[in-house]
Amino acid sequence: MEELLRNGAEIRQAEIVFKAFEYRLILLVKETVEINPPDRNKVVALDLGEIHPFVSFDGKEVLIWNGRLLRSYKQLRLKLIALKQKLLAKKQKGSRRWRKIKRSFERQIAKVERKIEDLEHKLTKAFVKYCKVKGIGTVVIGRVKGIRDRAKHNKNANQKIHLMWRFNKLLQKLKYKLEGEGIVVVEEDESYTTQLCPVCGNKHKPKDRNYICPKCGFSYHRDGVGAINLFKKFMEKVSGSLVKLPVDRGFHKKTLFRRYAASWTDTP
Ligand SMILES: [Zn+2]
Repeated sequence: MEELLRNGAEIRQAEIVFKAFEYRLILLVKETVEINPPDRNKVVALDLGEIHPFVSFDGKEVLIWNGRLLRSYKQLRLKLIALKQKLLAKKQKGSRRWRKIKRSFERQIAKVERKIEDLEHKLTKAFVKYCKVKGIGTVVIGRVKGIRDRAKHNKNANQKIHLMWRFNKLLQKLKYKLEGEGIVVVEEDESYTTQLCPVCGNKHKPKDRNYICPKCGFSYHRDGVGAINLFKKFMEKVSGSLVKLPVDRGFHKKTLFRRYAASWTDTP
């Protein structure tokens, strides 16, 4: 909030409400954002994943787009499906009770799916806004192998189809919005890795959340390494030579927190 105001946002409306045994202050804020025209040479790499829906790298900093809420709705959806099947199995198929339970669960599941849809819409919108502010003209999207593998190895055929469907839908939504703003979208397919050291090229599998290269000492939050490698790979393809990343400056990591009322913002 403070950061918003510092950046020139204006408070348009303020309201105090009493809800769930506490007072809440609701502020309607008008934020003015400076938009830069897309420059093709400004590139951002975007890694799509399961834990973090988006991890981006623009050559200087990694942004981890928080997906906790999105993930919790996805988990809720699976729980509801499992519970529905468990309860239905106890009833005679086609009976009045059976039909009633089926209908009730289907309604609840549809509601959760709408929520997921809405959150994905907000996430893609926030990413497009980030690109517009930064004047980014090229977005390199990496299809994370993990999602495909998970979809492939999922024993449940319905869930397998659903996972791929969901993922492709998010990708389409994102591409459509970016291209609508004149931003070029490039898809890189599974040809980058989260294990390669972006600085010296050594292969190293991190044991915990931190990636520390035993050869050159490059250290970073594990989840950012995929996006850094994706960026590097694309830049090397375009320039035809090896790209040296400014490791001595150190990469900067920022976690983006979800603001429920607004969209994703980069203010913690
Ligand atoms: Zn290294």
